[in-house]
Amino acid sequence: MHGGFHPKSSTLRLYASCKEGGRGLVSVRATIQDETSKTHKYIKDKAPTDDVLSECLRQWRTEDEMLEDGPSWEDKPLHGMYHRNITEVADLNKSYQWLERAGLKDSTEALILAAQEQALSTRAIEAQIYHTRQDPRCRLCKEAPETVQHITAGCKMLAGKAYMERHNQVAGIVYRNICAEYGLETPRSKWETPPKVVENERAKILWDFQIQTDRMVMANQPDIVVVDKEQRKAVVVDVAIPSDGNIRKKEHEKLEKYQGLREELEKAWKVKATVVPVVIGALGAVTPKLEEWLRQIPGITSDISVQKSAVLGNSKDTAQNPQAPCAEPSSSLASGRGPELGKGMRPPAEGENRVCMREREREREREQKLAS
Ligand SMILES: [Zn+2]
Repeated sequence: MHGGFHPKSSTLRLYASCKEGGRGLVSVRATIQDETSKTHKYIKDKAPTDDVLSECLRQWRTEDEMLEDGPSWEDKPLHGMYHRNITEVADLNKSYQWLERAGLKDSTEALILAAQEQALSTRAIEAQIYHTRQDPRCRLCKEAPETVQHITAGCKMLAGKAYMERHNQVAGIVYRNICAEYGLETPRSKWETPPKVVENERAKILWDFQIQTDRMVMANQPDIVVVDKEQRKAVVVDVAIPSDGNIRKKEHEKLEKYQGLREELEKAWKVKATVVPVVIGALGAVTPKLEEWLRQIPGITSDISVQKSAVLGNSKDTAQNPQAPCAEPSSSLASGRGPELGKGMRPPAEGENRVCMREREREREREQKLAS
């Protein structure tokens, strides 16, 4: 299926509906069950007027209870671990909505689900589950066990660049929507770092700006600050993409963190200030509150847009891991980084515009050479 399904991914999940986090395929089993129950219904309806059917019904009564649901992927120890982890902290419908609404390629979708299911051959899985390796520690930082959670949100070696990039992509979406709302010039490409300050007569937007306050506050450099001059309102926005099980904790943390700054801004700028955390799990989990938070930010930012960006941002990290379990993993994550990015074992995902662009550039160069 052209990478549309990871070989170690959950087959049960293939047949669960997208709304419940599955791939939404119709199984033969479900089709038969569906047909059977329809036939049963027909027979039940017609039995009172037909002797043959009523006899049929009498015999079937005993077999009726046979139609039971099979095991579910959510109960599987590894495949269902992510699902169980986020059940308490996340809005499940929203957390899986990207499966239906983000329009990702099959292969990208497969990779992210495989990551959720711990189906990727990380070192921790190799050491603890397959027993093909002794050392479960991360190949980059050599500190923590190399789990999917560690790769997507916990490795200090990735924090500086990969996580930062993913974070800035998400913050950038919010930023551009705010600019559009106030008629301010938006950065041309999504890879362009926005200017620290943009301003017109209606609003002022600060990007990653260290704000000087009368009283020292520890957290004074949020991702975005918007000041609406007409309404005398300020919104402090901070983005985080933590491990999916931590989304609720992170939301609280961000909210607390900027209260000092909020008070100082209200005093100094004479505005009504609010703090808005935008928190999305590295593999797409979102809290029930995300939509409400996004509504408090000027401009229109949909939850699916930021969610898609977060999920894609990290398919790049996990993508360095082997798709097929037989591939040699040691080279993939460590050396897959840098300019060679995208020469991985799968077609480039939607989020990899930059790689595509680079390839297009190379192609153009080649064409020019040929022409001259
Ligand atoms: Zn690490």
